[in-house]
Amino acid sequence: MQVNSELQQLNGNYLFTEIVRRTQAYQAQHPEAKVLRLGVGDVTRPLPLTIIDAMHRAVEEMAHAKTFRGYGPEAGYGWLKQCIIEHDYRPRGVELTPEEVFISDGAGSDLGNLSELFDRANSVAILDPAYPAYVDTSRMAGRKIQYLPCVAENGFVPELPKEQADIIYLCYPNNPTGAVLTREQLRLWVEYARSHHSIIIFDAAYESFIEEKDIPHTIYEIEGAKEVAIEVCSYSKSAGFTAVRCGWTVVPKQTGLQAMWMRRQCTKFNGTSYIAQRAAEATYTPAGKAGLQANLTHYKNTAKLLLKGLSTMGYEVYGGKNAPYIWCRVPKGYDSWSFFDHLLERCQVVCTPGVGFGPAGEGFVRFSAFSNREDVEEALKRMEHIK
Ligand code: PLP
Repeated sequence: MQVNSELQQLNGNYLFTEIVRRTQAYQAQHPEAKVLRLGVGDVTRPLPLTIIDAMHRAVEEMAHAKTFRGYGPEAGYGWLKQCIIEHDYRPRGVELTPEEVFISDGAGSDLGNLSELFDRANSVAILDPAYPAYVDTSRMAGRKIQYLPCVAENGFVPELPKEQADIIYLCYPNNPTGAVLTREQLRLWVEYARSHHSIIIFDAAYESFIEEKDIPHTIYEIEGAKEVAIEVCSYSKSAGFTAVRCGWTVVPKQTGLQAMWMRRQCTKFNGTSYIAQRAAEATYTPAGKAGLQANLTHYKNTAKLLLKGLSTMGYEVYGGKNAPYIWCRVPKGYDSWSFFDHLLERCQVVCTPGVGFGPAGEGFVRFSAFSNREDVEEALKRMEHIK
């Protein structure tokens, strides 16, 4: 037996373990300190009651012979696919068939697993900085990676790849920079993929945070995208499902990959929990929609507060308008980690060092709006004092 050396060489989840280590070390030395966590990208608000009720009903069904359910369809129940087709795509002028929609247990699994569709020899293009899953899964598969720097000068939207890119991971609204793509900018990527026989894996996990017009909510709003794009979506951030676990992936027939993905899922994935799918279905009811909207509005307001507070203090800040993240340049004389330490020690505020998302993230930190208003106000007040 030989282990997968690429996987072996990946370091541990250095970024978040190191943040936890430094925060715990500080807290141990200062047990009285109230540390404010503005770093993590995890939701904090409870689920709307109507979604809880849907889960209770689903659990109750499992208690009776007549309504008990065993394995469901590997690619998800038709009723949930129908909700997605009718509510998430049709209003945006995109028609999908149920066979093209695959219910998942969240975006994370599919972002990794989709890599199995492609030959190892394919080259990969990945935004730098980026959510770590794209680099990690590409390295586990032993693929050659081309990094696409996303810097303030290009508005965190990189130039098209200089070398041939067979697989392209795009994530907009972006984690960590909070940047978005206009329709015209996304059209250029679709054109690139069409002329280079590439596939785009479009991570739309933060779609629900889009506020401005002319920002596409799905890559299929761009003509021709169905031939070259797979879209990965999640209820995690839109509906607070990071623990419930449910999402979906669209693999259009025109990609020529739909049947292969189905085949792969039938072998390796026995479907998303029935209870989670019923919870997801409840997000489309009027009460479900209202509950989600209330939570989203809360996070969006927190993002606005952070953005305004930081920029009033003179920080160079980006994002926060169509995304729950604020990307903040660290002051002169600091790098990502030394500014993280500075904020922790002087303000008891935890952010995320930008360099943890890739080399081009050096010199930035990420603040997350998945927090409560009081903590953000308090954090800003403390930061004001050290300016
Ligand atoms: N994609 C991006 C850009 C994310 O930031 C995250 C989680 O933070 C995910 C995917 C994974 O989401 P899920 O909870 O659906 O696995």
